[in-house]
Amino acid sequence: MTEKKLNGTVIVTYRCNARCTMCNRYKAPSRPEEEISIETIRKLPKMYFTNITGGEPFIRTDLKEVVRELFRKSDRIVISTNGFFTDRIVDLCREFPDVGIRISIEGLEETNNEIRGLPDGYKRGYETLKTLVEMGMKDVGFGMTVQDRNARDLVPLYRISDEMGMEFATAALHNSFYFVEAGNIIHDRPMVAQNFENLVNELLASKSPKKWFRAYFNHGLINYIYGQKRLLPCDMSFDTFFIDPYGDVMPCNGTKDKEVMGNLNTQTWDELWNSQAAEAVRLKVRCCDRQCWMIGSVSPAMHKYIWVPAWWVIRHKAKFWTKKKYSMYENRVVRDYRDGKISREELDACSTCDICEVVNDGLSERSRELLKEKSGEEIVNADIAGQMVR
Ligand code: SF4
Ligand code: SF4
Repeated sequence: MTEKKLNGTVIVTYRCNARCTMCNRYKAPSRPEEEISIETIRKLPKMYFTNITGGEPFIRTDLKEVVRELFRKSDRIVISTNGFFTDRIVDLCREFPDVGIRISIEGLEETNNEIRGLPDGYKRGYETLKTLVEMGMKDVGFGMTVQDRNARDLVPLYRISDEMGMEFATAALHNSFYFVEAGNIIHDRPMVAQNFENLVNELLASKSPKKWFRAYFNHGLINYIYGQKRLLPCDMSFDTFFIDPYGDVMPCNGTKDKEVMGNLNTQTWDELWNSQAAEAVRLKVRCCDRQCWMIGSVSPAMHKYIWVPAWWVIRHKAKFWTKKKYSMYENRVVRDYRDGKISREELDACSTCDICEVVNDGLSERSRELLKEKSGEEIVNADIAGQMVR
């Protein structure tokens, strides 16, 4: 019998040097000495896909060792990064040319720098991507979190990525302990949805079947920003998992509070995965009403329930009589909002935004202790300054 492989995301650190407007993780860093060790990574199961993320993963100076270890158990690895540490990224890619790199770029130059809060963030991200393409890296791309202030840059940014022969990954605002945020919300839904519609039509017009499926994913984002039920079931914790810097294994990064299936520092993978705690989390996932639409939970679902996106693609590609193959008004809720049958307040109530909520940051007590003396930004700045003089 062939061994069942899982889909995993390894959050190697909660430290981050960016200051994004939609994520407060930079205010809540993990202590470096508590971050997931190579010994713990060795205990992970076989995976067909692994995403390495943070915080900013390249803050870890031992990231190459992490990647080396993960390549022993994973068919494919993609690292999500804000692209700031160009030298470290290039250096890692020289050793691991098969690794995938996704650099978050939140819009054209001005918008990106405003959202990301990194000096010269756009130029650095863009230059890093260009260097990687010139090096011959095959699996390189942009990642963009769409919101009111950058939605108009969606198609222009897609076109730049297309010209450079790169992947273009999209997301919308989410709230969770992982983002240390509960107040994210889209205000002008029709405007944002219109930009997604334009992107969907560009993707459907391409010659790449992969892009047609991306079109379906972006159609799902319109559904998500209007607070509707997910288009596909969420099976996180069944064949997909996240592991945080403390070795805690979780179903996903979309929950309000951290949900823990077990801890890989103290347990074996089999003990953890088959434990009562893991089963209890799976029961919660079955009743989860957060309706996230992030690639981490949607990509496995699109593979598992392939006939759903495939049928959607066939129906839209078959519209040979029109250039505009997709309209956002195919979504009933979008029509109902346009026609005044549903109010903005009612849509807001369907979202996960709750400005009164106390946000759980998922930090350990030891990491949180550091915040009594200094802010997260001060801790990470000092940490990076220390790495530079070493
Ligand atoms: S979104 Fe990513 S880059 Fe921005 S603060 Fe959060 S972890 Fe850092
Ligand atoms: S919908 Fe799925 S990904 Fe989102 S919080 Fe619930 S279990 Fe996690």
